[in-house]
Amino acid sequence: MNILFATPECAPWVKTGGLGDVSGALPATLAALGHDVRVLLPAYRGMKVTGEIGDGVELPAWGPWPAAQLVPVKADNGVTLLLLACPGLYQRPGGPYVDASGHDYHDNALRFGLLSRVAAQLGTAHSPLHGWMADVVHANDWPCGLAPLYLAQARSTPLPERTAASVFTIHNLAFQGVFPMGAADLLDVPHHWRTLEGVEFWGQLSMLKAALQFSDAITTVSPTYAREIQTQAHGVGMDGVLRSRSPYLRGILNGIDTKQWNPGIDPLLPHHFDADNLQGKALCKAALQARVGLPAEPKCMLFSLVSRLTQQKGVDLVLATLPRILQAGAQLVVLGQGDPALAQALREAAQKHPKQVAVTLGFDESLAHLIEAGADAFLMPSRFEPCGLNQMYSQAYGTPPIVAPVGGLLDSVTDVSADPAHGTGFIMTGVDPAGLDDAVQRALRAWREPQRWRKIQANGMARHFGWEDSAMQYLEVYERAIARAP
Ligand code: ADP
Repeated sequence: MNILFATPECAPWVKTGGLGDVSGALPATLAALGHDVRVLLPAYRGMKVTGEIGDGVELPAWGPWPAAQLVPVKADNGVTLLLLACPGLYQRPGGPYVDASGHDYHDNALRFGLLSRVAAQLGTAHSPLHGWMADVVHANDWPCGLAPLYLAQARSTPLPERTAASVFTIHNLAFQGVFPMGAADLLDVPHHWRTLEGVEFWGQLSMLKAALQFSDAITTVSPTYAREIQTQAHGVGMDGVLRSRSPYLRGILNGIDTKQWNPGIDPLLPHHFDADNLQGKALCKAALQARVGLPAEPKCMLFSLVSRLTQQKGVDLVLATLPRILQAGAQLVVLGQGDPALAQALREAAQKHPKQVAVTLGFDESLAHLIEAGADAFLMPSRFEPCGLNQMYSQAYGTPPIVAPVGGLLDSVTDVSADPAHGTGFIMTGVDPAGLDDAVQRALRAWREPQRWRKIQANGMARHFGWEDSAMQYLEVYERAIARAP
């Protein structure tokens, strides 16, 4: 199958969250299964891509779109990257979506409209890669949301073209790519689709909604989240559209990249370990305590959090529960960036309790790995969580997670109290301070019984979180979408 995977971020080259990890791992797994996978990604400033660079293909300016270039790079993982080079749009200081001061780029509609447009073009007979046309265009999150619409547009002309099937994955429904309806002209959205049945969302244009309306198949990143987002409580205004497309919506749990996230070989760890020998984990705990400036106390239970600092992730619940963690004589290590008020509250907690709380503000891949390896338990009290990756990393690293009863967390963690023989972590009874406190207290009690704790660790480390099963499910979705596409 010729698969075009269109994404605004892809690990290890550019990543702000879980989508980056998925984009790094799923296409590589599909390629290893024998498919021809190309990953379309903007060429951002400072990206260091290694591999065999092919001849660039010119994309002349047309309509509202500026001239650009597609640069193929054969990456070491078997995937061909198609870097979309348009320096005027992508070569900037800052991240993929926001400038250096954290504000959305003013021209995100055009920046990601172009990404969507090129993705769709690669799924038509006019593919700029001569001799290669995608059978399926797999678009991810709102920045690629217009790709299914453009494919539908190519099919609805007087002389309809054969096009690729479109599959869209929701990694987080909260990000909806909403722009003033005026952007529809710029983005070449047909007038008859600027309606409620099309891209219109409360008088504005939503790129996410475009994808939900026009894709041949929709997936999201866990079965529970697929159900949740069809309810008013979790649908963020899109639940009606999602219910109407329910037969085409499926939840597929993300895997983890077991080459990057494996405590037996992880190059970012000072010591390695596995389920049979956890000595290396104790050494990682000491290394972590030293690195973040906490007393190297093996007998002190070490809780951890690696997260975007947002309301979604329940960081405020961690702050509310902190006095009880301190009271128990435990430690807390935090790595994160985001909301300034949450960052400030965490910083103050660390200043007030330097022997028990350490906070690192920023994005630090190697510290994230060391925390997963060195901590005793991992906190994830998210208010909603499409899939979540850290709870899976935690289980693989012998760091039982404490999680909220939502989304992918429910699909990937087995509660120790509900199932003592197979439990891998602690599921909160509710997403509030009392629910988190209850789970933390249960974890503290279990940790004080070393044999019991080792069993919980072993259960988690024995879990299989690789991508193979999920990749097979995506192939099924692709095949059905191809059969369905006109
Ligand atoms: P989300 O995509 O909602 O942010 P996920 O749990 O799905 O949450 O994925 C987050 C990914 O980003 C994980 O790989 C996590 O380790 C990483 N991450 C989040 N914050 C940081 C940070 N401050 N430093 C390093 N890695 C981080």
